[in-house]
Amino acid sequence: MTELNIEQGPIRPPSEAYSLLLRATRNCPWNRCEFCRTYKHEKFGLRPVEEIKKDIDAVREIVSEIKTFSWTQGFGGEITPPLANVILQNPERLPDGFRSVALWLLNGGQNVFLQDGDNLTLKTADLVEVLSYLKGNFPSIQRITTYARAKTVSRRTVEDLQALRDAGLSRIHIGLESGYDPLLQLMKKGVTAQEHVDAGKKVKASGISLSEYVILGLGGKAMWREHAIETAKVLNRINPDFIRVRTLKVLKEMPLHEKIEKGTFILLTDDEVVEEERLLVEQLEGITSTFVSDHVLNLLEEVGGMFPEDKSKMLAVIDHYLALSPERKVNFRLGRRGGLYRSLDDLLNEERWNQVQTALERIETERQGAVEQVISDLMGSFI
Ligand code: SF4
Repeated sequence: MTELNIEQGPIRPPSEAYSLLLRATRNCPWNRCEFCRTYKHEKFGLRPVEEIKKDIDAVREIVSEIKTFSWTQGFGGEITPPLANVILQNPERLPDGFRSVALWLLNGGQNVFLQDGDNLTLKTADLVEVLSYLKGNFPSIQRITTYARAKTVSRRTVEDLQALRDAGLSRIHIGLESGYDPLLQLMKKGVTAQEHVDAGKKVKASGISLSEYVILGLGGKAMWREHAIETAKVLNRINPDFIRVRTLKVLKEMPLHEKIEKGTFILLTDDEVVEEERLLVEQLEGITSTFVSDHVLNLLEEVGGMFPEDKSKMLAVIDHYLALSPERKVNFRLGRRGGLYRSLDDLLNEERWNQVQTALERIETERQGAVEQVISDLMGSFI
């Protein structure tokens, strides 16, 4: 159908699943975090503004091609699920960028996520130019978001950030990971708790929406308590618009794996991660953030809501899980990671409960204790 393509980076936040992915930089300028493998062995680079603009031009042409295709297929220029199916199942191998634009249009064509790991490394004037060009070409765009490192943001002025906001940048996603300095050092995050606070406050002062990511389980057995308490303190000082949690899962390619092998970092069990999450939520005070557990690795997706009004509801979900019998806990853990459950109430679905129980019994018959490995493998398959 087309030779047009746009460059795509490897990741995006879960909340940007339906956004247009547009690469503004390549890879990560830091690339040393112990728990991250995304850009390992990849070199960081700024993309020239003209190159990014060419991708924006390509998106415009792809949109035009898709609309023409819609007319030829009898869909009247509309992008509907049946048309998207035709496009996505096209026997010709379509470039990733083309599929990405088709999905973006199908989902309203309103949100854009600028990839990769730290786009505030671009000069403010360059990023303003890109944002303006993007909005100029697609007036339908409502939201433009990006990842940025707190260290980089802390070096920007509020005026810089305001210029980005005025040009269309709506939200910055920052990997806070933890607010506990010894843990940030251990994980080679390259940023301090104070820098996280400075960066977060600047983003808030600029009027750009702020999303802070916390890694549940990152403290391990040695630091889980401090991780929860100090992270809550940092978040309480920033009061971000969103607090998003994702659970630690360590793969072989991550530097942290070596620490686990050597026994210098001991992972928490699922139940301990939930205890840690409880402490984090309990310690969050005086904020008006929205708490989101939308990452597939999280055991309790339903721990979410607005602070302060939903705090007791979130704690109740956690306490509900912690009060389950060991048999129900392991059934839930396997069912959740196997995609059969989304919430604790799903345990009441007899058919699904039995399905998970049958799988559990089969796994345990084949090899006693193997269920932990199966759950771990399932989590590994999500990332
Ligand atoms: S800053 Fe982000 S992208 Fe870069 S290594 Fe750390 S976690 Fe990975």
